[in-house]
Amino acid sequence: MDKKCLICNAPAEYMIKDSTDFYCKGCALDYFADLDMLCKVEVEAQKLKEFLNDKVTLDSDGQVVMKEE
Ligand SMILES: [Zn+2]
Repeated sequence: MDKKCLICNAPAEYMIKDSTDFYCKGCALDYFADLDMLCKVEVEAQKLKEFLNDKVTLDSDGQVVMKEE
């Protein structure tokens, strides 16, 4: 995950919930009085990782394969 701030292009730390808008901490604080509607990018990345762990696995060759439903 290498997300950039929508405003200043700095590495993003926050994102708007349920959107693909990313902001660095400074811009997030400038544009949003509180950070309640924002979530940390790392949290989302972690969720994605857990989601993927649920859906894919590595075979004996180290290839990513979808788990059977
Ligand atoms: Zn920024």
